Amino acid sequence: MRGVVQGVGFRPFVYRIASEEGLAGFIGNDTDGVIIEIEGAAPAVDAFLTRLRTEAPPLSRIDSVSVRDGTATGENGFRIVASEVLGRVSTGIPADAATCADCLRELLDPADRRYRYPFLNCTNCGPRFTITRQIPYDRPQTSMAKFPMCPDCACEYYDPLNRRFHAQPNACRVCGPRVWLADASGGEIPGADPVVSAIDRLMAGEIVAIKGIGGFHLSVDATNEPAVMRLRQRKRRLGKPFAIMVKDPEAARRICALTAEEEALLTTPARPIVLARANQNSGIAPSVAPGIPWLGIFLPYAPLQHLFFADPRIRALVMTSANLSEEPIAIDNDEARARLGEIADIFLMHNREILQRCDDSVAAIVDGAPQLIRRARGFVPLAVELPFESPPLLAVGGHLKNVFALVRGQFAYQSQHLGDLENITALDFFRESLAHLMRTFGIEPEAVVHDLHPGYLSTQWAKQWAEERNLPLIAVQHHHAHVAACMAEHSLAGPVIGLSLDGTGYGSDGRIWGGEVLICRLDRFERFAHLDYVPMPGSEAAIREPWRMALAHLQAAALDVESPGTLEMLHATASEARILKRMIDRQLNAPLTSSCGRLFDAVAAVVLGRRAVDYEAQAAIELEGIAIEEPDDVPGYGMELLPGEWTAREPARLAPAELWREVLADLRAGIPRSRISARFHAGVASGFQRAAVLARDVTGIHQVAMSGGCFHNRRLARLLRSRLEHEGFEVFRHVEVSPGDSGLSYGQAVVGAAILLGK
Ligand code: ZN
Ligand code: ZN
Ligand code: FE
Repeated sequence: MRGVVQGVGFRPFVYRIASEEGLAGFIGNDTDGVIIEIEGAAPAVDAFLTRLRTEAPPLSRIDSVSVRDGTATGENGFRIVASEVLGRVSTGIPADAATCADCLRELLDPADRRYRYPFLNCTNCGPRFTITRQIPYDRPQTSMAKFPMCPDCACEYYDPLNRRFHAQPNACRVCGPRVWLADASGGEIPGADPVVSAIDRLMAGEIVAIKGIGGFHLSVDATNEPAVMRLRQRKRRLGKPFAIMVKDPEAARRICALTAEEEALLTTPARPIVLARANQNSGIAPSVAPGIPWLGIFLPYAPLQHLFFADPRIRALVMTSANLSEEPIAIDNDEARARLGEIADIFLMHNREILQRCDDSVAAIVDGAPQLIRRARGFVPLAVELPFESPPLLAVGGHLKNVFALVRGQFAYQSQHLGDLENITALDFFRESLAHLMRTFGIEPEAVVHDLHPGYLSTQWAKQWAEERNLPLIAVQHHHAHVAACMAEHSLAGPVIGLSLDGTGYGSDGRIWGGEVLICRLDRFERFAHLDYVPMPGSEAAIREPWRMALAHLQAAALDVESPGTLEMLHATASEARILKRMIDRQLNAPLTSSCGRLFDAVAAVVLGRRAVDYEAQAAIELEGIAIEEPDDVPGYGMELLPGEWTAREPARLAPAELWREVLADLRAGIPRSRISARFHAGVASGFQRAAVLARDVTGIHQVAMSGGCFHNRRLARLLRSRLEHEGFEVFRHVEVSPGDSGLSYGQAVVGAAILLGK
């Protein structure tokens, strides 16, 4: 059997059903799954095979079962055999999983020996990836090694019918880790119950650093506005929304208008942060998520967190990764004190070491289906399948929201979210995580794949690393990688029409792409159409200050950017506008871009008056947010499609000049901003829809793959999918892989493998 079948209670499950069916044989782990041999009467064997699929443990995922007949030997009894017996190393390390219902019941049962014990777990739940040093996934290789089991725990651990059979982190109050409260100097603060003391502090408005599963969280009472503001100031995080944790789905429903799909996503064992529409007057402090109609909510996934919510005083807690701005999350007790001493008032520590940093994952329901935004805890190191077998590869990912991927055979193992690769700290995290995953899966890459951008830290690192090992290097264009990722998820060989609507990616012509219609195969692509180029005055500064992009777009649309009305709209002075105009005219530090994300930023700058942003894509997200009540079928603004010359490889262009004239006219006419935003979204969707139709007319291709960070935008994703389907296209979107840069390395790996194999 292949799939997620190791470390998730699969062997005891098989032991139990084999025994119940009166079958003899054995089960053992091997490299990528389990091997089972059974012997007995035919009806019992059939029943066994059915139950194998229908009753499989909650954390398991069966990808394939291959069955062969053998000769009966008259064997008696069923055994669980050690990995060594099969002569193969088990490489499976499961993802971390939320506390299961059985464990939660014990946690809150005063009669249970684990009552209020913050580290209880079983084969159906608990930490995995974050506590594992190396394979095989056995207790001595985890940070539980220093806690020898007491006789009671050992009994459970060795009993195949117990739900803690081979639960590697099994522990209790007698033998396992403990929590305590500490001040910034590290001194333990005595008290009867450290959790109750921590809750007292939270209720008093203090900031508590809480050690969790993949790192520390910084926590405050999410209903206490001054406390939330104080956390923002101390963390130097001004606008970016905080995630909040609530007790259960019922509590979540009081705070957000949850759809059934959102609730299902919220309660998966991975327990991601889910972006859902916030209810009015729910009591959540306004500065938790300023300027947008959504909240990132999630449910407790560790016993310690459940203990907080068992106290009726706690309604909702801000739980944000404990770091300064974009640094990696803190995991070690000393590191936390050193790095968070200025932020946290108090620390809730424990002595189970976190061996792998792992942030909380973020997901949303987009156009009716789950979409991953940040891939981390609960998803790492689960494999994503490739459409074909590949030699071992490393794909290093991009620049922002970096995730790398290791490939072996038909599987790609993506790392956890590593943050923006802009400095040595982030690069250290990248190296540390790579070494761990290479060790974990025993993968020695035979080629290295990187982004085409020569300046990315990831590219430079990849070149050096490949050179040291004498490995071939493959450079992949950013938007080709995005589209290839979507193709591979659906086993499409191409050619397809790839719609890659994105923030920033280095193009084959050295310009900054991001509004692309590509004709893609796995190993190569042609550029069919793109958003017309506009300058980015100030380069990176134009990302932080969207008014610069607005000015560039207005100028490209031949509108007077120095008129008093326009300056007021841009919140810019005449001299600022003059300086920017000069940069554009003289082509000084004003690289050309076809980015769709930057067009969103630019429109948001004039519609919302947002001159600068605190985090990437903030303006675009707010622009989507204000349109939330608007219908989908508003008339879109005009985008002109200027045909290219396909045979001469001259791409078509989408020019938004008319769109800009209409935006300004509507603003002057006092049309509500929500309506302007909706018309803008509809205009962009219509523009790319027409570009796809033109591509189909010219090439005969009727399959469209959608990828790129702009597909996190629900309205745009929904409008494009429905319009394209209405036009008769077969439309493909991401399933397990993120359309954003979190999914980039998977696409790079696909392209790299296709090139190496000549596919
Ligand atoms: Zn459990
Ligand atoms: Zn114990
Ligand atoms: Fe991208």
